[in-house]
Amino acid sequence: MLKTLRSIIEEVENTPKLVDALSILVQRVRQALETEACSIFLVDNDSRDFVLLATEGLNKALINNLRINMHEGLIGLVAEQEKPLNLEDSPSHPRYFHVQDSGEEVFHAFLGVPVMNNRHLLGVLMIEQREKRSFDEEEEAFLVTVAVQLGDVLARVGLSDLIEKQAKEGTTDNTLLQGLPSGPGIGMGQAVVIYPLADLDVVPDKFIEDKEGEIVKLNEALETVKEEIRTMEKKLSPSLPKAERDLFTAYIRLLDRDSLGKEIIAFISEGHWAQSALKRVVQKRVRQFEAMDDHYLRERASDIRDLGRRVLSHLQQQHRRKLEYPDNTILIGEELSAGDIASVPIDKLKAVISAKGASNSHVFILTRALGIPAVSGVLNMPLSTLEGKSLIVDGHYGHVYVSPTENLRQEFLDLAQAERLFDENLQSLRDLPAETLDGHRIQLLVNAGLAADAGMALAAGSEGVGLFRTEVPFMTRERFPSEEEQRIIYRQVLSAFAPRQVVMRTLDVGGDKPLSYFPIIEDNPFLGWRGIRISLDHPELFQSQIRAMLEASRGLGNLQILLPMISSVHEFDQAKILIEHAYDEINAKDPLPKPKIGAMIEVPSAIYEARRLARRADFLSIGSNDLTQYLLAVDRNNARVSSLYDSYHPAVLHALHQIVRSARLENTPVGICGELAGDPIVTLLLIAMGFTSLSASPNNLLRVKSVIRHFTMVQAKKLLSKVMKYEHSSDIRTELESVLDKAGLSALIRSGG
Ligand code: PEP
Ligand code: MG
Repeated sequence: MLKTLRSIIEEVENTPKLVDALSILVQRVRQALETEACSIFLVDNDSRDFVLLATEGLNKALINNLRINMHEGLIGLVAEQEKPLNLEDSPSHPRYFHVQDSGEEVFHAFLGVPVMNNRHLLGVLMIEQREKRSFDEEEEAFLVTVAVQLGDVLARVGLSDLIEKQAKEGTTDNTLLQGLPSGPGIGMGQAVVIYPLADLDVVPDKFIEDKEGEIVKLNEALETVKEEIRTMEKKLSPSLPKAERDLFTAYIRLLDRDSLGKEIIAFISEGHWAQSALKRVVQKRVRQFEAMDDHYLRERASDIRDLGRRVLSHLQQQHRRKLEYPDNTILIGEELSAGDIASVPIDKLKAVISAKGASNSHVFILTRALGIPAVSGVLNMPLSTLEGKSLIVDGHYGHVYVSPTENLRQEFLDLAQAERLFDENLQSLRDLPAETLDGHRIQLLVNAGLAADAGMALAAGSEGVGLFRTEVPFMTRERFPSEEEQRIIYRQVLSAFAPRQVVMRTLDVGGDKPLSYFPIIEDNPFLGWRGIRISLDHPELFQSQIRAMLEASRGLGNLQILLPMISSVHEFDQAKILIEHAYDEINAKDPLPKPKIGAMIEVPSAIYEARRLARRADFLSIGSNDLTQYLLAVDRNNARVSSLYDSYHPAVLHALHQIVRSARLENTPVGICGELAGDPIVTLLLIAMGFTSLSASPNNLLRVKSVIRHFTMVQAKKLLSKVMKYEHSSDIRTELESVLDKAGLSALIRSGG
């Protein structure tokens, strides 16, 4: 059963056209369940009715022509109830609705199941049979399973088909893709799609004219991989037994023109580009090997997959070498990395869109710091059909408009102009203190990760850096930066801000911040080896980083060191010993001031250890991004659960309040450096809780300052005690927004982080 299910889904997934995919689906389901009819109705979002898109067993002339009202018939009932409907004799049901010439009159047994995606109904999948009987439990479970998996697949295939149709007809039609707001602002430009390297599963289907050229590229890639294998063979052969050595020869043969090469060329000759031709052949071979009974042969499936990846990576490198970024680039990818962002000249990058990730993924924290509008989590994004298209990205609402009409373009140009004016007006606050109307001062700092951020941060009038993410320069390289390279980077930042303070966080890789040259393969990376855990396990790397920071601070004296992911006082004590050791070493050579050492509070256990940590540390800094993720058990990167990732959740707000209280008992200053610190909607709550500093991305700083300067601390405290009694985050948000609205600050709500 599982095999049949998998192969149906794979076949459907690998069929680029919606109509073809659905017709395969109904044929295969009918066959698998040995029934007489299988049909699928999908919801037409414009007319809000069901359209018959594929059938085996009903009159095929009705495909695309038969429309049923959303509340009509048995299909309508399945949709309303959002659950399977299993009937022994459908014509006798009061909701039965007979369609003329459908051929349905001969059937009695009926089973319909809803097809859902992301809480939305996409359609209804149904099977029918002449005999009067109920479909059994196994049949029902099978159909439900197909429908669940198809929810994802159909949404993707459907959207891509729709956009292709527009391209062919040459119409421009404001197609809207919905994602998550991940960087405020409006970006307009031309799509440049980045595909993940060496991932066969996400290679898009594309059709080409120049088949000969594509075959030349393929042959070059195959030859390069053969050469790589020969080199590997030479290196390893002396220490390998004969059976293993023979494998190299077998791989080289597989890549020959008359083996895999031949099959791939056959697909190219049908018009596929080399990458998808390769994908199809490799996936087919992998399936064949995986289905074999012999254990040894089954294992060979992973060898084929590996060979496929190697060839793909060469084809992609040829493609990337040619990649030119237009002046108004909108970068799109399934999952973008800091390296992808860094490869586009920053003045050409107008917006960023990704299918995966969510607002608080690190890559979006980086783009926000650079002031680039962004949308993440665009599920079912038809990547390959977007290449080169004109796009508008509305980072406030998470909207992407494909091929916008001139009218829509004009509307957004006007909006973007209004935003520029709004930002220019905020500039008048630049040199004014972040002080409430009754004289309470808050320190406003910036988060940074690139030395280049310094200009923006200073322009925004920051009082220093509250969080310098040192992993960013590590991520944009191909090996660990040397101690001297690190010293130079840190020196640039420290001297750009001196005499203002700079809080440098020690390396926080792992989780969603991978280093290509330091792969960490884990089932559960956010609960795995990351942050301080890696530093303590690699004291040589940690101490080298500390020495680089200390040397960089010579003569400036503005360095503070922050430790990420602290989950116990023991970790803090251990790290402090290593820091002191590095300090003593350097100080003995040439004396320099001792930096302050702080602990991040971003792991739930640290909430309860906050007082003990506050006793040991010079300051605390709350990482609300991770704290929210771990408190709510919601992956900050996962678009599917992004609506649950909610920093306004009462539990998160109570935790923040409790940490501040604990720190105050020890007279230890406490700041917040997660994205929440830059959200003007929540500023009043944070200052009322007692945070002494807020560290945010530069483009949010003046917005936050504007809120602080509009209210008294007395008002903020009153608001805090009111909303802390609320039970729902939506009520908290509504209350906070209404306070800003009444104060004439509603523009900050739209432009908020
Ligand atoms: C945080 O977790 O809030 C934080 C500031 O660190 P990062 O986003 O880099 O994990
Ligand atoms: Mg963190």
